[in-house]
Amino acid sequence: MNTRITPKNKGTKQLFQNGLLEKLTRTHAAVPITLFIIIGIGLLSYGIYQQLITVVPALMLFLAGLLSFTLIEYLVHRFVFHMEPDTSLKKDIAYKFHGVHHEYPKDKSRLAMPPVLSILLSSILFLAFLYIMGNIAYGFFPGFIVGYAAYLIVHYIVHAYRPPKNFFRILWVHHGIHHYKRNDKAFGVSSPLWDYIFRSMP
Ligand SMILES: [Zn+2]
Ligand SMILES: [Zn+2]
Repeated sequence: MNTRITPKNKGTKQLFQNGLLEKLTRTHAAVPITLFIIIGIGLLSYGIYQQLITVVPALMLFLAGLLSFTLIEYLVHRFVFHMEPDTSLKKDIAYKFHGVHHEYPKDKSRLAMPPVLSILLSSILFLAFLYIMGNIAYGFFPGFIVGYAAYLIVHYIVHAYRPPKNFFRILWVHHGIHHYKRNDKAFGVSSPLWDYIFRSMP
């Protein structure tokens, strides 16, 4: 989709004519990050406190949820956000969801999904997990949503700061390659793990 998009170093783009809709497309990443960490820890503690789940399985499920999120993150980025749209409607949707981020990668108001959308989506996900897995969702879903928060933190660091000197540097370079060199490679943001497994390492 955005193999033809040239990244711009500054600026932003209006996505909707409607002022409210346009406002809803923007958020500072710190808002969903805080929200998701609170929701994750809240649900995990609730599950343990209410004895819906015991501590050790809860923590193992938390890790499984975290790992599952990194896989979903990879698959959605690679196959949904970077699909080749064949109609102008699909093209428009792909641009609004991800193309705009490739055109304005430094636009800090668009480094995270709008909170309204992400709260809606995560509520649906939690209910779906609860329906499918039963009470173990109180361990799995918090890991999943904290994984999302971790992804947002890494993504923010990559786009808002200069290359860090600690281990984040690997992730900084990895996502930089995706934006500035090969956007058909390096789809993992929170880890390059799935790029190794699915052979999309740059
Ligand atoms: Zn991308
Ligand atoms: Zn990015």
